[in-house]
Amino acid sequence: MMYKKNGVVLVLSGPSGAGKSSLINAIIDDIGDYYFSISTTTRPMRKGEVEGVHYYFVSKEEFQKDIEQDLFLEYALVHGNYYGTSLKPVKEALSQGKLVIFDIDVQGNTAIKNRLGDITTSVFITPPSLSELKKRLINRSTDSKEVIENRIKMAKREIQRTSEYDFVIINDDFDVAASVLKQIAKTARIKVPTDRINEFVQKWEDIEQ
Ligand code: 5GP
Repeated sequence: MMYKKNGVVLVLSGPSGAGKSSLINAIIDDIGDYYFSISTTTRPMRKGEVEGVHYYFVSKEEFQKDIEQDLFLEYALVHGNYYGTSLKPVKEALSQGKLVIFDIDVQGNTAIKNRLGDITTSVFITPPSLSELKKRLINRSTDSKEVIENRIKMAKREIQRTSEYDFVIINDDFDVAASVLKQIAKTARIKVPTDRINEFVQKWEDIEQ
C-alpha cells in the first residue's frame, strides 16, 4: 500500500485589515512549494488591486453561471458580494503536492474543512483590538466610511468564531506574528508526511514477508 504524495491546505481567515496579506507576503519565500488560491469576486476592484493577482473580478451574472456549472470548491456572500474559490487550480496544486493557501472567511473555512478534512490547517488572524482595526481600515483609505462600518460589524461577528480554527494569531507585533505563521505553515506541510509514512509502511510490509 502506498500513500500518494498529496498537497495540504492552509486556511487563513480574519477581518479585513487584520494584516493577512502582509503576513503572507512576509513568509511566502520561506515556506517551500505553495499555491496561493486566487478567489473570484463580484466586489469592485480597490485602488492598487490587479486582475488575476488579487482576485478575478467578475459580474454577478458571471459568478452565478460558475455556481450553476459547479466550478467552485466553495463560495460565500461576504459584505453583500460574492467570493468563491475555483475548484480546478486547487485540485491541480494538491495533486502536485503543494501547500495550498486560502484567504477566505469563516464560512469558507467551514466549507473547506467539510470537503478537504484532515489535510487542512486553519489559522484565524486578528488585530489586537477593534479600535486598532478601525484605525488600520481608515489609514488604508481604500474603502468608504459605510464599507468600513460594515467590515467592523463583520469583524465582531467573525471574532466569535475563532474556536473553529486550529490556531489564532493576534497580530500585535508584526514580526512575532509572521514568525508564528511561518511555523504553522511549515507544520501544516508535515501534518500529512506522506514520504515518511510510505517509508514506515514499506518497513512493516518488509517485516511481514
Ligand atoms: P476583501 O473584500 O477584504 O478582499 O475580502 C473580504 C472577505 O472575503 C475576507 O474575509 C476574505 O477572507 C473573504 N474571501 C476572499 N475570498 C474568498 C473566497 O473565495 N471564499 C470565501 N468564503 N471568502 C473569501
